[in-house]
Amino acid sequence: MDLSLTEEEREVRDWVRTFVRREVMPLEAEVLQRERRHERGLTAEELTALQDKAKAAGFFGVHTPADYGGMGLGAVMTALVEVELGRSFVPFRFAGDADNILFFASEEQKKAYLEPTISGERKSCFAITEPGAGSDARNIRTSARREGDEWVINGEKTFITGGNEADFAMVFAVTDPALGADGGVTCFLVDRDMGWKSEPIDTMGEWGPAALVFDGVRVPHSHILGEEGRGFELAMRWIGKGRYLLPARALGACERLVELAMEHARNRVTFGQPIAERQAIQWMIADSAVEIEALRWLVLSAAWQVDQGLDSRQAQSMAKLYGGQKANEIVDRVLQIHGGMGYTRELPIERWYRELRLLRIYEGTDEIQRRTIARNLLRGHVSVRGHLA
Ligand SMILES: Cc1cc2nc3c(=O)[nH]c(=O)nc-3n(C[C@H](O)[C@H](O)[C@H](O)COP(=O)(O)OP(=O)(O)OC[C@H]3O[C@@H](n4cnc5c(N)ncnc54)[C@H](O)[C@@H]3O)c2cc1C
Repeated sequence: MDLSLTEEEREVRDWVRTFVRREVMPLEAEVLQRERRHERGLTAEELTALQDKAKAAGFFGVHTPADYGGMGLGAVMTALVEVELGRSFVPFRFAGDADNILFFASEEQKKAYLEPTISGERKSCFAITEPGAGSDARNIRTSARREGDEWVINGEKTFITGGNEADFAMVFAVTDPALGADGGVTCFLVDRDMGWKSEPIDTMGEWGPAALVFDGVRVPHSHILGEEGRGFELAMRWIGKGRYLLPARALGACERLVELAMEHARNRVTFGQPIAERQAIQWMIADSAVEIEALRWLVLSAAWQVDQGLDSRQAQSMAKLYGGQKANEIVDRVLQIHGGMGYTRELPIERWYRELRLLRIYEGTDEIQRRTIARNLLRGHVSVRGHLA
Protein backbone atom coordinates (compact mmCIF):
# COMPACT_ATOMS: atom_id res chain seq x y z
CA MET A 1 0.00 0.00 0.00
CA ASP A 2 1.48 3.34 -1.09
CA LEU A 3 0.29 6.25 1.03
CA SER A 4 2.63 8.84 -0.49
CA LEU A 5 1.65 11.69 -2.81
CA THR A 6 2.34 11.60 -6.54
CA GLU A 7 4.73 14.18 -7.94
CA GLU A 8 1.79 16.10 -9.42
CA GLU A 9 -0.10 16.08 -6.12
CA ARG A 10 2.98 17.33 -4.30
CA GLU A 11 3.56 20.08 -6.87
CA VAL A 12 -0.03 21.34 -6.70
CA ARG A 13 -0.04 21.17 -2.90
CA ASP A 14 3.27 23.03 -2.66
CA TRP A 15 2.13 25.73 -5.08
CA VAL A 16 -1.01 26.41 -3.01
CA ARG A 17 1.01 26.26 0.22
CA THR A 18 3.37 28.94 -1.08
CA PHE A 19 0.51 31.07 -2.41
CA VAL A 20 -1.24 30.95 0.96
CA ARG A 21 1.97 31.81 2.82
CA ARG A 22 3.00 34.66 0.50
CA GLU A 23 -0.31 36.18 -0.57
CA VAL A 24 -3.01 35.20 1.91
CA MET A 25 -1.48 35.00 5.39
CA PRO A 26 0.03 38.52 5.25
CA LEU A 27 -3.56 39.83 5.08
CA GLU A 28 -4.63 38.15 8.32
CA ALA A 29 -3.98 41.04 10.72
CA GLU A 30 -5.92 43.48 8.53
CA VAL A 31 -8.78 40.99 7.98
CA LEU A 32 -9.07 40.49 11.73
CA GLN A 33 -9.15 44.24 12.39
CA ARG A 34 -11.81 44.84 9.77
CA GLU A 35 -13.98 42.03 11.05
CA ARG A 36 -13.70 43.48 14.55
CA ARG A 37 -15.18 46.68 13.07
CA HIS A 38 -17.98 44.55 11.50
CA GLU A 39 -16.60 45.14 8.00
CA ARG A 40 -15.94 42.48 5.38
CA GLY A 41 -12.57 40.80 5.86
CA LEU A 42 -11.73 41.19 2.17
CA THR A 43 -13.45 43.63 -0.18
CA ALA A 44 -14.81 42.19 -3.44
CA GLU A 45 -12.01 44.02 -5.31
CA GLU A 46 -9.30 42.57 -3.06
CA LEU A 47 -10.69 39.06 -3.46
CA THR A 48 -10.79 39.45 -7.25
CA ALA A 49 -7.23 40.80 -7.32
CA LEU A 50 -5.99 37.78 -5.35
CA GLN A 51 -7.99 35.40 -7.55
CA ASP A 52 -6.53 37.07 -10.67
CA LYS A 53 -3.01 36.55 -9.33
CA ALA A 54 -3.76 32.86 -8.86
CA LYS A 55 -5.39 32.68 -12.27
CA ALA A 56 -2.30 34.18 -13.92
CA ALA A 57 -0.39 31.19 -12.52
CA GLY A 58 -3.04 28.83 -13.96
CA PHE A 59 -5.03 28.36 -10.76
CA PHE A 60 -8.66 28.71 -11.81
CA GLY A 61 -11.67 26.39 -11.62
CA VAL A 62 -10.25 23.74 -9.30
CA HIS A 63 -13.41 21.59 -9.68
CA THR A 64 -14.33 22.79 -13.16
CA PRO A 65 -13.71 20.45 -16.10
CA ALA A 66 -11.11 21.56 -18.65
CA ASP A 67 -13.89 21.85 -21.30
CA TYR A 68 -15.19 24.81 -19.28
CA GLY A 69 -11.77 26.37 -18.78
CA GLY A 70 -11.05 24.87 -15.36
CA MET A 71 -8.33 22.65 -13.91
CA GLY A 72 -10.65 19.69 -13.35
CA LEU A 73 -8.59 18.41 -10.44
CA GLY A 74 -9.47 15.06 -8.92
CA ALA A 75 -10.87 14.68 -5.42
CA VAL A 76 -7.58 13.88 -3.65
CA MET A 77 -5.93 16.89 -5.24
CA THR A 78 -8.90 19.09 -4.36
CA ALA A 79 -8.76 17.90 -0.75
CA LEU A 80 -5.04 18.76 -0.60
CA VAL A 81 -5.84 22.25 -1.93
CA GLU A 82 -8.58 22.75 0.68
CA VAL A 83 -6.26 21.74 3.53
CA GLU A 84 -3.77 24.42 2.48
CA LEU A 85 -6.50 27.07 2.15
CA GLY A 86 -7.84 26.07 5.57
CA ARG A 87 -4.55 27.08 7.17
CA SER A 88 -5.68 30.70 6.97
CA PHE A 89 -8.97 32.21 8.15
CA VAL A 90 -8.83 34.87 5.40
CA PRO A 91 -12.03 34.25 3.39
CA PHE A 92 -10.20 33.37 0.17
CA ARG A 93 -11.14 30.79 -2.46
CA PHE A 94 -9.95 30.31 -6.02
CA ALA A 95 -12.21 31.65 -8.77
CA GLY A 96 -13.77 29.64 -11.55
CA ASP A 97 -16.10 27.19 -9.83
CA ALA A 98 -19.83 26.66 -10.16
CA ASP A 99 -22.35 24.51 -8.30
CA ASN A 100 -22.09 20.91 -9.54
CA ILE A 101 -25.81 20.71 -10.36
CA LEU A 102 -25.56 23.57 -12.86
CA PHE A 103 -23.86 21.06 -15.15
CA PHE A 104 -27.30 19.41 -15.46
CA ALA A 105 -28.58 22.59 -17.13
CA SER A 106 -29.86 22.71 -20.71
CA GLU A 107 -27.52 24.26 -23.31
CA GLU A 108 -29.42 27.56 -23.08
CA GLN A 109 -29.32 27.52 -19.27
CA LYS A 110 -25.62 26.73 -19.32
CA LYS A 111 -25.00 29.95 -21.26
CA ALA A 112 -27.19 32.00 -18.93
CA TYR A 113 -26.18 30.46 -15.56
CA LEU A 114 -23.33 27.95 -15.61
CA GLU A 115 -20.79 29.79 -17.75
CA PRO A 116 -21.25 33.23 -16.13
CA THR A 117 -20.99 31.60 -12.68
CA ILE A 118 -17.68 29.99 -13.65
CA SER A 119 -16.38 33.30 -15.00
CA GLY A 120 -17.54 35.14 -11.87
CA GLU A 121 -20.05 37.44 -13.62
CA ARG A 122 -22.96 35.82 -11.78
CA LYS A 123 -23.43 34.56 -8.23
CA SER A 124 -25.62 31.64 -7.26
CA CYS A 125 -27.15 30.36 -4.05
CA PHE A 126 -28.59 26.96 -3.17
CA ALA A 127 -31.95 27.20 -1.44
CA ILE A 128 -33.57 24.14 0.08
CA THR A 129 -33.70 24.76 3.87
CA GLU A 130 -36.90 26.31 5.23
CA PRO A 131 -37.96 27.47 8.69
CA GLY A 132 -39.88 24.18 9.06
CA ALA A 133 -37.49 21.85 7.21
CA GLY A 134 -33.72 21.61 7.76
CA SER A 135 -32.41 18.13 8.50
CA ASP A 136 -35.79 16.89 7.33
CA ALA A 137 -35.40 18.44 3.88
CA ARG A 138 -37.96 16.04 2.42
CA ASN A 139 -40.54 18.06 4.33
CA ILE A 140 -40.15 21.35 2.41
CA ARG A 141 -43.35 23.36 1.86
CA THR A 142 -42.35 26.06 -0.66
CA SER A 143 -44.74 25.46 -3.53
CA ALA A 144 -44.68 26.04 -7.28
CA ARG A 145 -48.03 26.05 -9.09
CA ARG A 146 -48.17 25.89 -12.87
CA GLU A 147 -50.07 28.64 -14.73
CA GLY A 148 -49.74 28.21 -18.49
CA ASP A 149 -46.09 28.52 -19.40
CA GLU A 150 -45.12 29.83 -15.99
CA TRP A 151 -44.76 28.56 -12.44
CA VAL A 152 -45.76 30.66 -9.43
CA ILE A 153 -43.51 30.14 -6.41
CA ASN A 154 -44.61 30.85 -2.83
CA GLY A 155 -42.68 30.16 0.34
CA GLU A 156 -39.71 31.00 2.50
CA LYS A 157 -36.16 29.66 2.56
CA THR A 158 -33.74 30.21 5.40
CA PHE A 159 -29.99 30.06 6.20
CA ILE A 160 -29.07 30.41 2.53
CA THR A 161 -25.33 30.95 2.10
CA GLY A 162 -24.68 33.78 -0.33
CA GLY A 163 -28.40 34.57 -0.40
CA ASN A 164 -27.78 38.29 0.01
CA GLU A 165 -25.20 38.53 -2.74
CA ALA A 166 -26.64 36.05 -5.26
CA ASP A 167 -28.31 37.29 -8.41
CA PHE A 168 -29.99 33.93 -8.97
CA ALA A 169 -31.13 31.11 -6.71
CA MET A 170 -31.49 27.38 -7.27
CA VAL A 171 -34.79 27.00 -5.49
CA PHE A 172 -36.40 23.70 -4.52
CA ALA A 173 -40.20 23.75 -4.51
CA VAL A 174 -43.01 21.21 -4.27
CA THR A 175 -44.68 20.83 -7.66
CA ASP A 176 -46.68 17.71 -6.77
CA PRO A 177 -47.69 17.53 -3.09
CA ALA A 178 -48.95 13.94 -3.47
CA LEU A 179 -45.46 12.75 -4.49
CA GLY A 180 -43.41 15.17 -2.35
CA ALA A 181 -39.68 14.39 -2.33
CA ASP A 182 -40.34 11.15 -4.28
CA GLY A 183 -40.93 12.81 -7.64
CA GLY A 184 -42.84 15.94 -6.65
CA VAL A 185 -40.02 18.42 -5.91
CA THR A 186 -38.57 20.53 -8.73
CA CYS A 187 -35.52 22.80 -8.89
CA PHE A 188 -35.96 26.23 -10.49
CA LEU A 189 -33.37 28.76 -11.60
CA VAL A 190 -34.82 32.00 -10.29
CA ASP A 191 -33.25 35.38 -11.04
CA ARG A 192 -33.40 37.97 -8.27
CA ASP A 193 -35.14 40.39 -10.62
CA MET A 194 -38.02 37.91 -10.91
CA GLY A 195 -39.02 39.22 -7.49
CA TRP A 196 -37.59 37.29 -4.55
CA LYS A 197 -36.35 39.21 -1.52
CA SER A 198 -33.52 38.42 0.86
CA GLU A 199 -32.91 39.38 4.47
CA PRO A 200 -29.53 38.87 6.21
CA ILE A 201 -29.39 36.55 9.23
CA ASP A 202 -26.90 37.54 11.91
CA THR A 203 -24.87 34.55 13.10
CA MET A 204 -21.93 33.90 15.43
CA GLY A 205 -19.75 33.56 12.32
CA GLU A 206 -18.18 36.36 10.34
CA TRP A 207 -20.41 35.95 7.32
CA GLY A 208 -24.17 35.69 7.46
CA PRO A 209 -26.57 33.61 5.41
CA ALA A 210 -29.97 34.97 4.35
CA ALA A 211 -33.69 34.28 4.50
CA LEU A 212 -35.32 34.34 1.05
CA VAL A 213 -38.97 35.19 0.51
CA PHE A 214 -40.92 34.07 -2.56
CA ASP A 215 -44.27 35.79 -2.71
CA GLY A 216 -46.00 34.83 -5.97
CA VAL A 217 -42.70 34.88 -7.91
CA ARG A 218 -43.41 33.96 -11.56
CA VAL A 219 -40.80 31.79 -13.29
CA PRO A 220 -40.92 30.58 -16.92
CA HIS A 221 -41.22 26.80 -17.40
CA SER A 222 -37.88 26.88 -19.24
CA HIS A 223 -36.18 27.74 -15.92
CA ILE A 224 -36.59 24.25 -14.50
CA LEU A 225 -33.14 22.80 -13.78
CA GLY A 226 -32.99 19.13 -14.78
CA GLU A 227 -36.37 17.44 -14.97
CA GLU A 228 -39.69 18.41 -13.43
CA GLY A 229 -40.19 16.33 -10.25
CA ARG A 230 -36.51 15.27 -10.03
CA GLY A 231 -35.37 18.22 -7.92
CA PHE A 232 -34.82 16.34 -4.69
CA GLU A 233 -32.24 14.12 -6.39
CA LEU A 234 -30.44 17.25 -7.60
CA ALA A 235 -30.47 18.68 -4.07
CA MET A 236 -28.90 15.49 -2.71
CA ARG A 237 -26.26 15.65 -5.45
CA TRP A 238 -25.42 19.24 -4.49
CA ILE A 239 -25.09 18.32 -0.82
CA GLY A 240 -23.14 15.17 -1.66
CA LYS A 241 -20.73 17.02 -3.97
CA GLY A 242 -17.93 16.62 -1.56
CA ARG A 243 -18.56 16.18 2.13
CA TYR A 244 -14.82 15.57 2.40
CA LEU A 245 -14.14 19.20 1.42
CA LEU A 246 -15.47 20.82 4.61
CA PRO A 247 -13.40 18.62 6.95
CA ALA A 248 -10.40 19.06 4.62
CA ARG A 249 -10.55 22.80 5.21
CA ALA A 250 -11.00 22.25 8.96
CA LEU A 251 -7.97 19.97 8.90
CA GLY A 252 -5.80 22.83 7.63
CA ALA A 253 -7.15 25.07 10.39
CA CYS A 254 -6.38 22.42 13.04
CA GLU A 255 -2.79 22.01 11.81
CA ARG A 256 -2.20 25.75 12.06
CA LEU A 257 -3.94 26.03 15.43
CA VAL A 258 -1.82 23.28 16.98
CA GLU A 259 1.32 24.96 15.58
CA LEU A 260 0.21 28.18 17.32
CA ALA A 261 -0.42 26.25 20.54
CA MET A 262 3.03 24.64 20.45
CA GLU A 263 4.75 27.98 19.89
CA HIS A 264 2.84 29.52 22.77
CA ALA A 265 3.56 26.53 25.02
CA ARG A 266 7.31 26.77 24.36
CA ASN A 267 7.37 30.48 25.21
CA ARG A 268 4.93 30.80 28.08
CA VAL A 269 6.64 30.30 31.42
CA THR A 270 4.71 29.55 34.62
CA PHE A 271 6.13 28.43 37.97
CA GLY A 272 9.61 28.69 36.47
CA GLN A 273 9.10 26.43 33.44
CA PRO A 274 7.60 26.67 29.96
CA ILE A 275 4.10 25.19 30.02
CA ALA A 276 5.29 22.91 27.16
CA GLU A 277 7.13 20.94 29.87
CA ARG A 278 3.85 20.12 31.65
CA GLN A 279 2.21 16.79 31.00
CA ALA A 280 -1.27 18.39 31.02
CA ILE A 281 -0.25 20.55 28.04
CA GLN A 282 1.67 17.79 26.26
CA TRP A 283 -1.34 15.49 26.42
CA MET A 284 -3.53 18.10 24.76
CA ILE A 285 -0.94 18.48 21.98
CA ALA A 286 -0.54 14.72 21.60
CA ASP A 287 -4.28 14.03 21.44
CA SER A 288 -4.73 16.81 18.88
CA ALA A 289 -1.89 15.49 16.71
CA VAL A 290 -3.33 11.95 16.72
CA GLU A 291 -6.78 13.24 15.82
CA ILE A 292 -5.38 15.44 13.04
CA GLU A 293 -3.61 12.41 11.59
CA ALA A 294 -6.79 10.30 11.81
CA LEU A 295 -8.81 13.07 10.17
CA ARG A 296 -6.23 13.40 7.39
CA TRP A 297 -6.68 9.75 6.48
CA LEU A 298 -10.47 9.86 6.74
CA VAL A 299 -10.52 12.85 4.38
CA LEU A 300 -8.00 11.39 1.92
CA SER A 301 -9.63 7.96 1.97
CA ALA A 302 -13.02 9.52 1.18
CA ALA A 303 -11.48 11.61 -1.61
CA TRP A 304 -9.59 8.59 -2.97
CA GLN A 305 -12.85 6.61 -3.08
CA VAL A 306 -14.44 9.45 -5.08
CA ASP A 307 -11.54 9.36 -7.56
CA GLN A 308 -11.87 5.58 -7.87
CA GLY A 309 -15.57 5.90 -8.70
CA LEU A 310 -16.50 3.91 -5.56
CA ASP A 311 -19.60 4.64 -3.51
CA SER A 312 -17.94 7.02 -1.07
CA ARG A 313 -20.99 8.17 0.88
CA GLN A 314 -20.14 6.30 4.07
CA ALA A 315 -16.53 7.51 4.01
CA GLN A 316 -17.63 11.08 3.35
CA SER A 317 -20.13 11.07 6.22
CA MET A 318 -17.45 9.68 8.52
CA ALA A 319 -14.96 12.39 7.50
CA LYS A 320 -17.59 15.12 7.94
CA LEU A 321 -18.67 13.83 11.38
CA TYR A 322 -15.16 13.26 12.71
CA GLY A 323 -13.90 16.54 11.26
CA GLY A 324 -16.68 18.55 12.87
CA GLN A 325 -16.25 16.89 16.26
CA LYS A 326 -12.45 16.91 16.39
CA ALA A 327 -11.93 20.39 14.95
CA ASN A 328 -14.13 21.73 17.73
CA GLU A 329 -12.28 19.78 20.42
CA ILE A 330 -8.91 20.85 19.02
CA VAL A 331 -9.71 24.57 18.78
CA ASP A 332 -11.01 24.40 22.34
CA ARG A 333 -7.74 22.84 23.56
CA VAL A 334 -5.70 25.42 21.65
CA LEU A 335 -7.72 28.20 23.27
CA GLN A 336 -7.11 26.57 26.67
CA ILE A 337 -3.35 26.36 26.10
CA HIS A 338 -3.35 30.12 25.36
CA GLY A 339 -5.14 30.88 28.64
CA GLY A 340 -6.69 34.36 28.83
CA MET A 341 -5.03 35.42 25.58
CA GLY A 342 -6.90 32.66 23.78
CA TYR A 343 -10.16 34.27 24.82
CA THR A 344 -9.25 37.73 23.51
CA ARG A 345 -9.97 39.21 20.14
CA GLU A 346 -6.29 40.04 19.67
CA LEU A 347 -5.64 36.49 18.50
CA PRO A 348 -7.64 34.68 15.79
CA ILE A 349 -8.35 31.64 17.97
CA GLU A 350 -11.80 32.74 19.14
CA ARG A 351 -12.64 33.55 15.50
CA TRP A 352 -11.73 30.04 14.43
CA TYR A 353 -13.63 28.71 17.47
CA ARG A 354 -16.80 30.40 16.20
CA GLU A 355 -16.24 29.43 12.57
CA LEU A 356 -15.47 25.76 13.20
CA ARG A 357 -18.65 25.40 15.23
CA LEU A 358 -20.65 25.64 12.03
CA LEU A 359 -19.09 22.45 10.69
CA ARG A 360 -21.21 20.42 13.12
CA ILE A 361 -24.39 21.96 11.74
CA TYR A 362 -24.48 22.68 8.02
CA GLU A 363 -24.47 20.23 5.11
CA GLY A 364 -25.82 17.59 7.50
CA THR A 365 -25.54 17.90 11.28
CA ASP A 366 -23.47 15.49 13.40
CA GLU A 367 -26.65 13.66 14.33
CA ILE A 368 -27.70 13.26 10.70
CA GLN A 369 -24.23 11.95 9.74
CA ARG A 370 -24.46 9.43 12.59
CA ARG A 371 -27.92 8.43 11.44
CA THR A 372 -26.61 7.88 7.89
CA ILE A 373 -23.54 5.95 9.05
CA ALA A 374 -25.54 3.68 11.37
CA ARG A 375 -28.29 3.05 8.83
CA ASN A 376 -25.81 2.15 6.10
CA LEU A 377 -24.27 -0.39 8.47
CA LEU A 378 -27.50 -1.77 9.93
CA ARG A 379 -29.07 -2.19 6.50
CA GLY A 380 -26.00 -4.00 5.24
CA HIS A 381 -25.09 -1.42 2.56
CA VAL A 382 -21.56 -1.21 3.97
CA SER A 383 -19.35 -3.24 6.30
CA VAL A 384 -17.77 -2.09 9.53
CA ARG A 385 -14.54 -3.37 7.92
CA GLY A 386 -14.64 -0.41 5.53
CA HIS A 387 -13.97 -0.39 1.80
CA LEU A 388 -11.17 -2.96 2.08
CA ALA A 389 -13.53 -5.59 3.51
C1 LIG B 1 -24.38 29.40 8.38
C2 LIG B 1 -25.30 28.43 7.72
C3 LIG B 1 -25.28 28.29 6.34
C4 LIG B 1 -26.19 27.45 5.69
N1 LIG B 1 -26.23 27.41 4.31
C5 LIG B 1 -27.25 26.77 3.68
C6 LIG B 1 -27.44 26.89 2.26
O1 LIG B 1 -26.65 27.52 1.55
N2 LIG B 1 -28.54 26.31 1.70
C7 LIG B 1 -29.44 25.61 2.43
O2 LIG B 1 -30.41 25.13 1.83
N3 LIG B 1 -29.27 25.44 3.78
C8 LIG B 1 -28.22 26.01 4.42
N4 LIG B 1 -28.06 25.89 5.79
C9 LIG B 1 -29.03 25.12 6.54
C10 LIG B 1 -28.43 23.87 7.21
O3 LIG B 1 -28.17 22.89 6.24
C11 LIG B 1 -29.40 23.43 8.30
O4 LIG B 1 -29.33 24.39 9.35
C12 LIG B 1 -29.07 22.04 8.84
O5 LIG B 1 -29.33 21.06 7.86
C13 LIG B 1 -29.88 21.72 10.10
O6 LIG B 1 -31.22 22.01 9.93
P1 LIG B 1 -32.00 22.88 11.04
O7 LIG B 1 -31.19 24.08 11.32
O8 LIG B 1 -33.40 23.06 10.60
O9 LIG B 1 -31.97 21.97 12.34
P2 LIG B 1 -33.02 20.83 12.68
O10 LIG B 1 -33.19 19.93 11.53
O11 LIG B 1 -34.25 21.45 13.27
O12 LIG B 1 -32.27 20.04 13.83
C14 LIG B 1 -32.20 20.51 15.18
C15 LIG B 1 -31.39 19.51 15.98
O13 LIG B 1 -32.06 18.24 15.98
C16 LIG B 1 -31.20 17.23 15.46
N5 LIG B 1 -31.99 16.27 14.69
C17 LIG B 1 -32.81 16.53 13.65
N6 LIG B 1 -33.35 15.39 13.19
C18 LIG B 1 -32.82 14.38 13.96
C19 LIG B 1 -32.95 12.96 13.98
N7 LIG B 1 -33.72 12.33 13.09
N8 LIG B 1 -32.27 12.26 14.88
C20 LIG B 1 -31.47 12.89 15.80
N9 LIG B 1 -31.30 14.22 15.84
C21 LIG B 1 -31.96 14.95 14.92
C22 LIG B 1 -30.21 17.99 14.59
O14 LIG B 1 -29.03 17.25 14.38
C23 LIG B 1 -30.00 19.25 15.40
O15 LIG B 1 -29.10 18.99 16.43
C24 LIG B 1 -27.10 26.67 6.45
C25 LIG B 1 -27.09 26.78 7.86
C26 LIG B 1 -26.21 27.64 8.50
C27 LIG B 1 -26.26 27.75 9.99
